Parts: sequence; structure tokens; C-alpha cells
Amino acid sequence: MSIGGGVHAAIERACSIGCTAMQIFVKNNMQWFARPLTRPEIGAFLKHTQRRELLSVFAHANYLINLAATNPQFHANSLRALAEELIRADQLKLPFLVLHPGAHLGAGEEAGLESIIESIDRVLSGIPKIKTRIALETTAGQGSCLGSKFEHLAYIISRVREPERLCICLDTAHVFAAGYDIGSESAVRKVFAQFHRIIGLDRLVAIHLNDSKTARGSRVDRHEHIGKGKIGLAAFRFIMRNRRFRKIPKVLETPKGKDLREDVENLKTLRALL
Ligand code: FE
Ligand code: FE
Ligand code: ZN
Repeated sequence: MSIGGGVHAAIERACSIGCTAMQIFVKNNMQWFARPLTRPEIGAFLKHTQRRELLSVFAHANYLINLAATNPQFHANSLRALAEELIRADQLKLPFLVLHPGAHLGAGEEAGLESIIESIDRVLSGIPKIKTRIALETTAGQGSCLGSKFEHLAYIISRVREPERLCICLDTAHVFAAGYDIGSESAVRKVFAQFHRIIGLDRLVAIHLNDSKTARGSRVDRHEHIGKGKIGLAAFRFIMRNRRFRKIPKVLETPKGKDLREDVENLKTLRALL
């Protein structure tokens, strides 16, 4: 949900269309850095009368951040930006910040994963008191992006110094584009069994519900409205109905305009599956 007009404005937008969960950026999404949040801004968010209507609010990190960046300046910016966003999210008392693990940019999978692990260690050790966790997101594997295999995420968690500060966000469009078969109930069930075996469902804290414009295995990340893309409704029905996911917040990242009517439509489609 857009934070135009301040972070508190996102609460009003989400509540105006009956959301019970919300994902926000904690600053302008296309800028590396921003001035710190002011006390009044934080207060307006935390004390907003509608804040209680949202059962879960969490953050998504800036898309510029790449913990596997090979350019030293770009990498340094990424570490600083991630730390700052975790601090902002913590000031807003958000439980986690969703982050794309990173893109190795030709350095290779192994080198990329090592860089991500080392970067996470450095960022987290620099902000020991911050409670907001990092939720690594499953990715489509576009270009040299890591995180398209559950094994990548499991490896990162297994190697960092403070694994308790990491959790996972699953994106349906991404796992589909990455090649996982979620086209039927039995197939989705198998994918989640695989997720559980490799990562552990106890790590799963959020789900991005997006349909995909692109085919399974395309490794191209293009979101589509629920039921209008290539995934089909089986995966969404399974996630909406399964008791294991009942308390896991689910958010849309589908195309939308200012009036949010597309969100209203997608919410309706999803809730009709319950
Ligand atoms: Fe994301
Ligand atoms: Fe996503
Ligand atoms: Zn995506």
C-alpha cells in the first residue's frame, strides 16, 4: 500500500477497502536514503485509531538493495540502506522487512550466496537491538537473482550468525515463474511439502498472492490479477483454505491505480475461494 502522504496514510487506504493485512515501503522505494522518520510521523502511525483493524502490518525493502552487488559503492549503499530500513521498520513496530536476497551479477551463485550471508551478518551485527526481522523472499530467478530455489534460502539461513533474525516470505508469482508447479491442488501440496522439508514452514511469515503474466519456469517476474494470469485458481484456493496458512498474512502486489478498485476486485476473488 502506498505511503504517499506519510506512513499513517497507508493505514487509512488499507482500511478503506477492508484489508486485514498490509505491506508498505518504509520510505520512497526508488531512493537509496531518506531523512529519518520524525517522532510525530511515528506517533501518527502507531497511535492511529484504525491501526488495530489491521491484524498484520509489515514492510518491503527498497528494490535498489542488492546484498550481492559486485560494485563496492553499490554494495556499501545496500548495506547502509538495509540497516536504515530495518531501523525505520522497527520504529514503526513492524515484525519483518521483506527482502529479495540479491543478484550475483555474473559472479556466480556460490559467490553471490557468500556475499549475501556476509552482508546479512554485517548489517544485523551493527543493529543488535533492532527487533524487526528480515524476511527473505522467494524470487523468480530473473537475470542473476538468487532465491528462486528453496535451497538458496535454506542455505543462507543455515550459514548466518543470527538465523533467528531471518524468516521467509513466499511469493506465488515468483515460485511459479521460478519453475515450481502450483497448477493443481496436489501439485501445490507437494511444493509446500518441499518448502517444509528444505526451509521449514515455521519460518514462513507472509505470503505474496500474485498471479503471473508469464509462464511457469519463465524466470520472468510480471504480476497479474488473481485468476487472470497463468497460475490458475488452484494455488490460491489451497492457500486461502488451508488451516496452516490461516494466521499467515497474505498481501497482493498486483497492478493497481490510485482508486484501489483493482485491489477490491482481487480481494473479492480471493475471499470467494474461502
Ligand atoms: Fe518482493
Ligand atoms: Fe513479492
Ligand atoms: Zn515479483
